[in-house]
Formats: sequence, C-alpha cells, structure tokens
Amino acid sequence: MKDKDTSSIQAETSHPMRVIYTKHFPSGNYHGINLFGTIFVQKRWGVMDRHELNHEFIHTMQQWEMTYPLFYLWYGIEYLVRLLQHRFDTHKAYYSISFEREAYANEHNLSYPRHRRPFAWLRYLTTPFSRKKA
Ligand SMILES: [Zn+2]
Repeated sequence: MKDKDTSSIQAETSHPMRVIYTKHFPSGNYHGINLFGTIFVQKRWGVMDRHELNHEFIHTMQQWEMTYPLFYLWYGIEYLVRLLQHRFDTHKAYYSISFEREAYANEHNLSYPRHRRPFAWLRYLTTPFSRKKA
C-alpha cells in the first residue's frame, strides 16, 4: 500500500515525496517531521497513509514559498506565541500554528496541492482554533 499511496500523491502533485522510516527520529510522541521536503517517520507509527503524505506535502509547499529558513523561523516563533495564547498547552499551541491548521484542514483533499493559492496558510493566522481530536 505504501507505494500506491506515495505514487497517487505524486500524480496529484507531480512532485516526488521522500519518506525515510527511522527507529528513533523524531523522538517522543512526534510521528514525523518534514525537513527540507524529506519526511522522517518513526517506524513504530507505521507507514504513512495518503492523507498524512498530503499533509506533509502541504508543509513542503509552505516551505518552498517561505524559503526553508524563514519557514522554520516563523514556525518556531508562531509556536511560542501560541503557547502564550493557550497558557502553555503544547497540544493546543501546535494545532493552532497556521501552517498546521492549513495542513490539517486540507489533508483529506488530495487535489488541494494543485489548487492551493500561494501563502494560503496566512488566512489561518486569524481563524479561531477548532481542533477537536488529538
Ligand atoms: Zn503538520
């Protein structure tokens, strides 16, 4: 299933996604991390499905338009601001980051990357937080 899922994302986006399954990285409860367009996932969380791949590809598009260093800088600063906003609730802070909101809101729409407008995450900056599940 892994190859099928990956190729369908590639067909949608015409861009290859590299996923590396690791033993210990990223650590803790983080399932995966997108570093410069390459996804690192701990094996124990299983193979990424097409919606998770789509989620990560949305991050890759955000990284392209922000250029990589600015993406990570903005991500970090917004996380700190969200932490303050949500009284150090790390869960809420994470799901409030505009990059994450755009990715979670659209990960089930596999054609989203094709129709996405540049800097679409900006409109999630001001949308109220509404993440129900973990
Ligand atoms: Zn994400």
